[in-house]
Amino acid sequence: MALPPPLPPGSTIGILGGGQLGRMTALAAARLGYRCVVYSPEAHAIGGDVAVAHVQADYGDMAALARFAAQVDVITYEFENVPEATVEACQRHKPVRPGVRAIHVAQHRLREKAFFRELGLATADYQAIASEADIAAATALPGILKTCTEGYDGKGQVRVADRAALAAGWAALGRRGCILEALVDFTAETSVIVARGLDGETRCFPIGRNDHRDGILRTTMVPSGLPAATVATAERYGIALARGLDLVGLVALELFVARDGSVLANEMAPRPHNSGHWTLDACATSQFEQLVRAVCGLPLGPTDMLFPSRMENLIGHEADDWLRYLADPAARLHLYGKTSARPGRKMGHVTFVPAAAPSRSTT
Ligand code: AMP
Repeated sequence: MALPPPLPPGSTIGILGGGQLGRMTALAAARLGYRCVVYSPEAHAIGGDVAVAHVQADYGDMAALARFAAQVDVITYEFENVPEATVEACQRHKPVRPGVRAIHVAQHRLREKAFFRELGLATADYQAIASEADIAAATALPGILKTCTEGYDGKGQVRVADRAALAAGWAALGRRGCILEALVDFTAETSVIVARGLDGETRCFPIGRNDHRDGILRTTMVPSGLPAATVATAERYGIALARGLDLVGLVALELFVARDGSVLANEMAPRPHNSGHWTLDACATSQFEQLVRAVCGLPLGPTDMLFPSRMENLIGHEADDWLRYLADPAARLHLYGKTSARPGRKMGHVTFVPAAAPSRSTT
């Protein structure tokens, strides 16, 4: 089948979701001459601040979704918990890239793990926990119990050492459908971000080494220093996933490098990813520009690392140090325009590059 022609600059990209990932996508789109319209329920959307319009409506408002779709040429999403029905409604009007399949898989941890296994990606041992009988039969211990849906940044998770703790943990999580994953003894966490174009071409960004605290990403270092074989496995997994989902856009796959050297798939997100923020300042093409290129049917950009970098998230009041970062020639500061610095909230990030590194043009 012939490919649809590329969407020319001047076209409009619709973004479901109003957060920082959509905001940075809209900035990258503007640089290439595209316009963005953001759709989200909040009264103030930081993505909407840098878009040509913000449609403020609930995800279930079919009339508002139809009006939104009428204003745009292609639709993407910046977070994976957009309801499937919303994406399906949008697909009836305009192409949605990536489509509903990636959302369907990413929204449910058990489905996600089963999909990884189907594609030949290794994972930690896991089992479904949905009843007392499942608890009595559990063997993936010690482990981490996670709700199947709606958990992110370490929320909806408890570490459990034995069956008694598992029973207590399941009660604490509201006896909802959960997944119990065996605790992985990892030496590193990493993630691979893969872009796949309309023509099926795939490109991986260089992988970084991620450090988490309390379930939230704190830093990403690139290069990762991981062995070439680990990098090759990460890329193979990422490409298999992008192809398996038949996705047009970006997918990020979070991975554990276990003490025995094996690479285990943890979770995926079909959108730009926090561990790829360094690409704004230290890569030939940023992950946000790559998403714009993919969804508009443009050629994918080069993904060469320009210089080593370390990205640090600015969480809560850490962003109050903005003046210090601006005074540091090695720091590239990104603030998201959020008005209240609640604890645990991602307010911005800073990427440290060699002090003499030229500034990459991001806007
Ligand atoms: P997740 O929400 O699945 O990305 O989990 C958040 C963080 O918790 C991960 O980045 C790890 O640091 C830790 N974690 C999650 N699952 C496991 C596991 N099975 N074994 C060890 N650590 C884990």
